[in-house]
Amino acid sequence: MKTLRLLLGDQLNIKHPWFKSVDDDIVYAIFEMRQETDYVTHHIQKVIGFFAAMREFASTLESAGHQFIYYKITDKNNTQKLPENLQKIIREKDISCFEYQLPDEYRLDRQLQKFAITLSIECNVVDTSHFYTKREDLQTFYKGKKQFVMENFYRDMRKKHDILMAYGNPEGGKWNYDKSNRKKWKNEPEIPTYKYFKNEVSAVVSDIEKSGIKTMGNWNLKTFNYPINRKQALEQLKYFCEQLLIHFGDYQDALHTDEVYLFHSRLSFAMNIKLISARNVVDTILNYYRKHEDSIDISQVEGFIRQVIGWREYMRGMYWALMPDFKEQNYLNNRNSLADFFWTGNTKMACLKHSISNSLDNAYAHHIQRLMITGNYALLTQTHPDAVDAWYLGIYADAIEWVQLPNTHGMSQFADGGNIATKPYVSSGSYIQKMSNYCDGCHYNYKKKTEADACPFNSLYWNFLDDKREQLESNFRMKMMYSILNKMDADKLSALKKRANHIIENQDEY
Ligand code: SF4
Repeated sequence: MKTLRLLLGDQLNIKHPWFKSVDDDIVYAIFEMRQETDYVTHHIQKVIGFFAAMREFASTLESAGHQFIYYKITDKNNTQKLPENLQKIIREKDISCFEYQLPDEYRLDRQLQKFAITLSIECNVVDTSHFYTKREDLQTFYKGKKQFVMENFYRDMRKKHDILMAYGNPEGGKWNYDKSNRKKWKNEPEIPTYKYFKNEVSAVVSDIEKSGIKTMGNWNLKTFNYPINRKQALEQLKYFCEQLLIHFGDYQDALHTDEVYLFHSRLSFAMNIKLISARNVVDTILNYYRKHEDSIDISQVEGFIRQVIGWREYMRGMYWALMPDFKEQNYLNNRNSLADFFWTGNTKMACLKHSISNSLDNAYAHHIQRLMITGNYALLTQTHPDAVDAWYLGIYADAIEWVQLPNTHGMSQFADGGNIATKPYVSSGSYIQKMSNYCDGCHYNYKKKTEADACPFNSLYWNFLDDKREQLESNFRMKMMYSILNKMDADKLSALKKRANHIIENQDEY
């Protein structure tokens, strides 16, 4: 019996049970396809990264002796559509069994389900063996509960997997060191030189250009810096443990004009295409910590572990619990267009200029740039969540819908009305000033409210709260802000709203 096994571009897990042995009756299929490059405009580095890693994976399969079929984006026999490519191979190779790993994206899941129904041959679906949790686990965990608080899930994960636990209690006496993860970085401690991978990708770039794929963002180097195979992903992880972990937690929310990555691991791309598993990352970090407990504080480690076993698994579980309705929601009824400067970085607001330029140059921004600078601004300007989703899904190399949508649509844009975040993540300029040095060189003054050089975030913030009273005033966590707003002098509020509306209507002048 000849079996065809599909590998999607984010299923590059050579440790999957599928690859334990070589079987000449099994043929693997990997396709570079326009259906994947064109459903949103992706960053050029994201497309390079996916294709380069997929080609590397095919070489790994070849070296291990597995049979495989690889369609490059330029191949003539590539129909550019998943069902058609599969159907063609099933016919040509006389395949009698089709198998695939559960896709993490709803769109592909439905497409493969529909395709499987049309087949007259045997069809099997298996897990990706990448995550700690199964797709449905969060639904079971939160069954009967009104609120889906991440912290409860995170604590359960710590207990269930015995991570940073001591005799049933959280190690160090605290579950969460979030409050000590908020230091401003002031040029010290020194940030080690970043680890770059000089991958030669000119053939990939040439194929992307030949195909005419529309991309965004910048790419000026002849080499590509993201890890594209398991060996490089493991090197990146080792580098994080040895060089960055010691200060990761302290500065995970910090922002700085001169530093794109600070102490962040930059492992998200490698993890999201499954070059390494979540368990692999967590075990390596815990092992390193055990050997260096005298020099590394638990708060640095817990801050990272929380992102992986907490947020990351929670985001995936919530995605599967809430889709497909989740994607359509627009609780705050936001309708404005995304400012043009999101595509150029051309704005006088220093915080946005830096965060957007970093994103355009590197297909990367760390979570606070995404949440509290670009996301905060898009929400305050009442941008349609679909436009915000499309930008985030396209621009970041690590953005795959299962992780992007809950983070952007839910947490950042509050478009689901509070299933994921208990309140909207909005702030005025003072938060940005506290966490960064962006305001030091800005055209605007973070202390001013309505003057010509007043920080736009200040008027936008109060205007947003006033405009969204109906949806937000009863939110317990917004009570304090509404009590300040309700006491505000009417003339002052009117001046703030006038400036905010001018900003919203003329975003590209600011
Ligand atoms: Fe951003 Fe306002 Fe600070 Fe300028 S002053 S960097 S716009 S927060």
